[in-house]
Amino acid sequence: MNIDPQILNNIILIATSLGVSFIVALWMSIIFWVIRDIRSRSRDPFVGLLSFLLVIILPIFGIFIYWIIRPNQTIEQKYQTALEEEALLKELEKKQNCPGCGRMIEDDWILCPSCHTRIKKICISCGKILELPWNLCPFCGNPQQKVYKTDKAQANLYQLDKKD
Ligand SMILES: [Zn+2]
Ligand SMILES: [Zn+2]
Repeated sequence: MNIDPQILNNIILIATSLGVSFIVALWMSIIFWVIRDIRSRSRDPFVGLLSFLLVIILPIFGIFIYWIIRPNQTIEQKYQTALEEEALLKELEKKQNCPGCGRMIEDDWILCPSCHTRIKKICISCGKILELPWNLCPFCGNPQQKVYKTDKAQANLYQLDKKD
């Protein structure tokens, strides 16, 4: 088989230019992808520039380094995580500790079952749970006694109210 060297040269030239343009296209798409990806992960322009330079200076291979060092979470994911943490914290804050013995108490308890410290009071009119310093019920609008009765007396009163 005898191939004309001129034709062979042309074939090699075409193959090479095809290969080169494929690599350039790949490189370009990597650069565009990285720019878009880093924008969703960091607002820091320095980090953005660094990622951009990385894939420019190290064509193709820069992407692997970028994958290793890029921020784990996108800004959106970070925001979600922060929201979840905040919700968790709020949940924890809701749980109070008894001012007397420090044990966990529920929101709607009026007495600490461990040390019998008074935590909240009951509205003398509607029976809703009120904070101790309130002298007016925010639910029914009835004024509360300034001098607190004993807890037991108030509990009885509440029972009586319920019976009516
Ligand atoms: Zn207690
Ligand atoms: Zn009330």
